[in-house]
Amino acid sequence: MTDLSASSGPLVVAIDGPAGSGKSSVSKQVARLLGFGFLDTGAAYRALAWLALERGVDTSDSTAVLDVMGDFDYSISLDADEFWVRVGATDVTRAIREPRVSEAVSGVARVPAVRQSVNALFRALVAASDRPGVVVEGRDITTVVAPDAPVRILLTAAPDVRAARRSAELTGQDAAAVATALHQRDAADSTVVDFLTAAPGVEVVDSTDLDFDQTVDAVIGVIRTKVPAQTGAHDGS
Ligand code: C5P
Repeated sequence: MTDLSASSGPLVVAIDGPAGSGKSSVSKQVARLLGFGFLDTGAAYRALAWLALERGVDTSDSTAVLDVMGDFDYSISLDADEFWVRVGATDVTRAIREPRVSEAVSGVARVPAVRQSVNALFRALVAASDRPGVVVEGRDITTVVAPDAPVRILLTAAPDVRAARRSAELTGQDAAAVATALHQRDAADSTVVDFLTAAPGVEVVDSTDLDFDQTVDAVIGVIRTKVPAQTGAHDGS
């Protein structure tokens, strides 16, 4: 596979982490502050799971999932301020966050051919960006999608803190049920990709005792240390 970071193009900031680590919201804010693009890779797996559910396909059946992948017409915004996700002409930005999609997504994400295909899509999306950099967040960005990215970060937080954050986001849902679903998804996902241990050279940012702004500052601190020349000019603070 071609490494995303090996090609010339926008600077890649690779951020991995488990559900509820604050990855998406922190990555978005970092992208805004630096004038970078933002690529939520989990959204592609979610959108494919959404399409499989629309078609009534059993997402634990790899062959059936691959059939759906065959006509997966996916597009996503890399703009943190105008974020949208589409499948064909349908805006699925909100639908892909529904619990039924979260429950189905690990089944879709464990199919190797799906992963290869979406990784090619991620590389193309980043290469096409006209921003000076792109913050790419997911589970295997630091290890598989962009192992040579100049900035690679693993964003972690204690399991109970992640569950509490996720249930605060999903208002109206039972906190214990949210925690159980999150831990089940982590367990299923970690059989495919190890996103709980930092690979060599990956900086760990543990947000357990940090609030949102402190986590954003910590991530920007790592980026500034790794690539001072590319980041200083864009951050107005
Ligand atoms: O980040 P998010 O929770 O939206 O990711 C949804 C799902 O997509 C994860 O639970 C995982 O199954 C899959 N995923 C992945 N590799 C990535 C990003 C997400 O397998 N790089």
